[in-house]
Amino acid sequence: MEGASPGDDLLPGALCGQSGIYQVIHRAHRVTHNVLVRARELFPRCKVCGDAVRFRLVKQVSQPPFMRAKRVRKKSAGR
Ligand SMILES: [Zn+2]
Repeated sequence: MEGASPGDDLLPGALCGQSGIYQVIHRAHRVTHNVLVRARELFPRCKVCGDAVRFRLVKQVSQPPFMRAKRVRKKSAGR
């Protein structure tokens, strides 16, 4: 099987392969907290501990609650 499975630590800057709630584990400056990261997004760096932060999948989310359908604008070709 490929992809992240629950329990895997993920690094900031890595491509998220699974939309879900991720636990953010910081060095020492703050407690862990959860964030929603969507597939094809990059895991963010922390402003304080930078690359030392780790992400761990807590709960998979198939349909992000705040996903908005983006309208694709057709480019007018000329005129
Ligand atoms: Zn941090």
